[in-house]
Amino acid sequence: MQAVLADKHIETRALVVEKPQGPFVLHDVIFDEVRDDEVLVEIKYSGLCHTDLVAQQGLIPLAGFPVILGHEGAGIVRRLGGCLKDQSLKVGDHVLLSFSSCMNCSYCAQGQNGLCPQMHAINFTGTRLADGSNPASLRNGTSIRSKFFGQSSFSKLAVVSENSIVKCELSDEEFAIMAPMGCGYLTGAGTVMTVLKPRKQSTLAILGMGAVGLSALIAAKAMGVQRLIAVDILDTKLSLAKSLGATDIVNSNNIESLGKALRELARNGVDHIIDTTGLSFMIEEGINALGHGGSFAIVGAPRPGGTITIDPLDMLRSCKRIVGVVEGASNPATLIPELIRLHREGLFPVERLSRTYSVTDLDIAIEDLKAGNIVKPVLSWESV
Ligand SMILES: [Zn+2]
Ligand SMILES: [Zn+2]
Repeated sequence: MQAVLADKHIETRALVVEKPQGPFVLHDVIFDEVRDDEVLVEIKYSGLCHTDLVAQQGLIPLAGFPVILGHEGAGIVRRLGGCLKDQSLKVGDHVLLSFSSCMNCSYCAQGQNGLCPQMHAINFTGTRLADGSNPASLRNGTSIRSKFFGQSSFSKLAVVSENSIVKCELSDEEFAIMAPMGCGYLTGAGTVMTVLKPRKQSTLAILGMGAVGLSALIAAKAMGVQRLIAVDILDTKLSLAKSLGATDIVNSNNIESLGKALRELARNGVDHIIDTTGLSFMIEEGINALGHGGSFAIVGAPRPGGTITIDPLDMLRSCKRIVGVVEGASNPATLIPELIRLHREGLFPVERLSRTYSVTDLDIAIEDLKAGNIVKPVLSWESV
């Protein structure tokens, strides 16, 4: 990158998706400026989340094109906006980037930022919401959506909304490990720690052993939850889950019904279930397998228009609860430092979930993610 940054028209390189289902292509891009409530961050690593691929496919209605995706950035502050709320932030500070929220509603005021009613608009639209402008454009002047989750961190430099910034002092090694804190790990851990809050004696089943499911598992293990049931269709992921603390593993390809399999493992039903698959039949069977007073968290995105059938009398008699959870219903500014602390104590070993790829090997990273060879690819921007 250039030694001296221009005040305006800041040049860098970013992965741009030009149209729905188009490839990620490394382009020269130009950022117009760093506004009062924004921070220029040099991205060192960015995690690849399933949501980036869903957006690339054009399956998120609000997310337009061309677009710079990426919403799990880790980097270093290079320039500060003129009117930031956090006056302690300095050039050179290490930051993890997470989702943005309005910071004005009652949920944001209570530190439940993941419940912010404006989450969808703020994070998926990918523009500056104040005036609909985009920080980035191509050399030919084409405007690029570049505030995805307030950060669009598939970029060597990113103009980031202040609300997406979480300041954290990180070692060189930790930058790559911690990058996915901002979405995947925070979502899984937050669902357990801030929403379900299982007791140690509880039984918790997690459907789907991706980054969200495994970070939920690790968080529950760190909380001392004694019975942890991991469900997936890949034995490799189930083995990983077992080594990370799952007490029981279920390959859902090898069973007649999930409800029956869970009932066999927990005769009185399961106390808490987290679904990361978004599959209607898994959700239905999971709800049936809940025990008295049990709660079910819908965390993975179901397909638009999908429906489930539930037995309302069973819901009533069994005092069951179903809750939708976005980004762990969490406040990144408090949960991420807590997860880093747990990691340093050896209780949140997320380094076992990720592998680092050069950004030029993105296609390999995507293939490995889709094939289930790796749970969490992290892109390095060092060579760009
Ligand atoms: Zn809000
Ligand atoms: Zn994500």
